[in-house]
Amino acid sequence: MDRTFVMVKPDGVMRGISGEVIARFERKGLKLVAAKLVRLSEAQVMDQYREHLDKPFFPSLHAYILSGPCLVMVWEGHNTVSVVRRMVGATNPSEAAPGTIRGDLALDTGRNVIHASDSPESAAREIAIHFKDRELLTYQRVDEPIIYEWQ
Ligand code: UDP
Ligand code: MG
Repeated sequence: MDRTFVMVKPDGVMRGISGEVIARFERKGLKLVAAKLVRLSEAQVMDQYREHLDKPFFPSLHAYILSGPCLVMVWEGHNTVSVVRRMVGATNPSEAAPGTIRGDLALDTGRNVIHASDSPESAAREIAIHFKDRELLTYQRVDEPIIYEWQ
C-alpha cells in the first residue's frame, strides 16, 4: 500500500467543499490515515512549494495558501499517488477533465481547490512536512476485502 499527501486549499475549505473532496476519495476505496484542519506556517508553505519558489506566480500562491485554513490529509491505497493525481485533474481547472475534482469544482488555476503529491518521493517529503509519524493511523476499512481482489 502507498500513501499520498492531499490538501484542500483555503478556497475549498471556505467554499464548504471539503466533504465533497473527502467523499470522492472514500468512495474510490482509499483509506484516510491522517487529517487535520490547520493554518500552514510560512515555513511549511515554503517547504511544500519549494520547487516553485522562483516562479512568477509564487507570491500569489504563497498568499493564497496562507489566506485561510487548509485541510491536510494522508490517503492510503494501491497506487494512491497516481490514482489521486488523476482524480484531482489538471492544474488549470478550465482544462481539467470533467469528472475530476478540479474539472468539476473549480475554474481558476490560482484557486484550484486541492493539492496532491506528484510522486511517491514528493508524498513522503510532503507527509513529513505536515505530520508526525504517530499522527498516521493504522486501521482496517471494513470493505477492504471487497475493494481488493487479493485480500
Ligand atoms: N499555480 C498558479 N499559477 C500557475 C501555476 C501554478 O497559481 O501558473 C499554483 C496552483 O495553485 C498550483 C500550484 O501553484 O496548484 C502548484 O503548481 P503545480 O504546477 O505544482 O500544479 P499542481 O501540482 O498543483 O497541479
Ligand atoms: Mg505540483
